[in-house]
Amino acid sequence: MAADLAVGFRAGVGTSRVAQALRPDDVVSRFDAPLAEAVAPAAEVIERLAQDAADGLHGHPSARFFGYVCGGSMPVGVAADHLVSAWGQNSPSSWHSPAVAALEQTMSRWCLELLCLPPESGVGVVTGATAANTQAIMADRHGLLKRRGWDVEAQGLFGAPEFPVLIGADAHKAPLDRLRHAGLGADRAIRVATDDQGRMRTDALDAALAACDAPPLVVLQAGQINTGAFDPFGEIIPLVHDRGGWVHVDGAFGLWLQVVPELREMLDGVEQADSWAVDLHKWSSAPYDAGLCIVRDRAALVASMSARGAYLPTASEHWDPSDSVMALSGRARGVPSHAILQHLRKTGLRELVSRHCRLARRVAERLSREPGIEVLNEVVSNQVILACRSDARTEALLAEVQRRGRVYPSHGEWRGRKVIRVSVINYAVQEEDVDLLVEEIISARRGIA
Ligand SMILES: *Cc1c(COP(=O)(O)O)cnc(C)c1O
Repeated sequence: MAADLAVGFRAGVGTSRVAQALRPDDVVSRFDAPLAEAVAPAAEVIERLAQDAADGLHGHPSARFFGYVCGGSMPVGVAADHLVSAWGQNSPSSWHSPAVAALEQTMSRWCLELLCLPPESGVGVVTGATAANTQAIMADRHGLLKRRGWDVEAQGLFGAPEFPVLIGADAHKAPLDRLRHAGLGADRAIRVATDDQGRMRTDALDAALAACDAPPLVVLQAGQINTGAFDPFGEIIPLVHDRGGWVHVDGAFGLWLQVVPELREMLDGVEQADSWAVDLHKWSSAPYDAGLCIVRDRAALVASMSARGAYLPTASEHWDPSDSVMALSGRARGVPSHAILQHLRKTGLRELVSRHCRLARRVAERLSREPGIEVLNEVVSNQVILACRSDARTEALLAEVQRRGRVYPSHGEWRGRKVIRVSVINYAVQEEDVDLLVEEIISARRGIA
């Protein structure tokens, strides 16, 4: 029955409203009953759950959902995810669940190849880019302090040699928050000036490096959350390495541009970094929650995550999922991505990413011809940001588009202006979907002008 309910839900996605009909308060009251005494039949519980939740769900899997940067949970991945739940594997070790370890290890190896990253890197299959950024920064912290004779896992950060952290002025909030988790302090990070697209300026970085009194950690980004822009990796990373520093790249969605040879140029030099965070539930459309933490020096990743760090097994001996993540027990969250990559393979993935970038350019070209709407970014990937002549008009336009509910872009702020953000990233999105988005924005604007 759950399978039928799931199929029914997905069949309705794309024809029904993209935005949820209910507000949080309306939904809470449906579920907020005291827990009763008597056992209830499982089938009834599931049916009721699906019924009560239906209009409180957002259109995330819809090809007409353009908000935030949200993947659409591709059906082959969802199918594999059902198996994962049914298998009920606790998958920390290759001895407990050899099939899961082998599936995740292969999927990780495929991703390193697809993302053009060093094949010897350590990979942790994590819940998303947030966890990936945190773990990678902890591994980088290990590497930087080890070189200065400090074992941070054993001795902690009190009294440790200090190192500066440099991050772009337009970095996503995510890696900044991760500095907090890694004990490096969000406010302590030195913000480096960026250009009009949010890319770190090499001259500003150079000046900031000159002021560093110890080898720093530099956090870069592949895919700025508003503009979709890329830091100049090829220029910056060698400068940091010259000073003995380490570089982390938040590539939650942007790293996937590597699969398209014509677009790869933007990522030139990114493979020289020391660690990378990338999501599986965004551009590669895995069901939530999945991402990869990738660290060039596998020993640094394992040392910072696992008590086995001191006697690290080689990857070929046996690859234990829990060596590279912060949890001991966990679901086999890499398996759906194995199925997705096995389905799409190289051609499918390349088609998907290049289609999204082409459609994002189409949105920008069509909307920039509309008087009263301005496209604020150079569209180099899948992100488009729009604004009207005033913040009030931009907000009114977005509210009207969302109220109509046929398509769903989301809000944001760029260079002090309110913006409408369009992210073309759903696996199913086609020309007709972006054309509907454009028509909705144009007719809503004319309606309220
Ligand atoms: C989405 C995103 C994150 C956070 O990733 P989650 O998967 O939501 O944890 C971090 N950085 C960037 C650039 C992102 O787009």
